[in-house]
Amino acid sequence: MDLPIYLSKNPKKHLIFDLDETIFLLKLPWQEYKKDTFKILSRFNPELKNPKGYISTNDEINRLRKEFGPEIHELAYPLREKFEMESLQGLIPNGPLINFIRQNKDNFTFHIWTSQMSKTAEWLLKKKKLLDCFDKIVGRDNVDYTKPEPDGFYKIFTPNDRARKSDYIMIGDNPDKDGIAAKKAGIDYFYIDYFKKE
Ligand SMILES: [Mg+2]
Repeated sequence: MDLPIYLSKNPKKHLIFDLDETIFLLKLPWQEYKKDTFKILSRFNPELKNPKGYISTNDEINRLRKEFGPEIHELAYPLREKFEMESLQGLIPNGPLINFIRQNKDNFTFHIWTSQMSKTAEWLLKKKKLLDCFDKIVGRDNVDYTKPEPDGFYKIFTPNDRARKSDYIMIGDNPDKDGIAAKKAGIDYFYIDYFKKE
């Protein structure tokens, strides 16, 4: 794993991890979730009944949240929580990264910024005896906008804390979400390819 090498050359104090496909691979039937979510949200955007091209569920929720406000989350998130809790078919760990987290919890401060619900993140980390390794856990229900928006970072550090931004890094599998969010917040990003290589 390249992360320890990177960190030896680029010293950081706070490591902010994505969850899905970074620390674990969550086996979830995403197509079913998308279908059910679009059904609920179609009264705000009728096109969702019969999408013509690809529409990202997270991007669409962000877009509708901007247009219609918190009601969008109030509608969509109970379904999301139920989906994550009840439809999980399996959990594949990123062994090397989990070992790194366990072995280095006294050397860094670890946080989570995930597009899962915070309850799910806490439940999974607790189940795998990792919860104590993390300081702050930020889920989609803790912010107005999910990644690639940077909102989650501002539950961990303040946007104006320029002096300390170099102490933080985002670690995740998705350059278009984790990477862009990090860029918007002005912090470094480290790409995790563990599950991409399989
Ligand atoms: Mg991910």
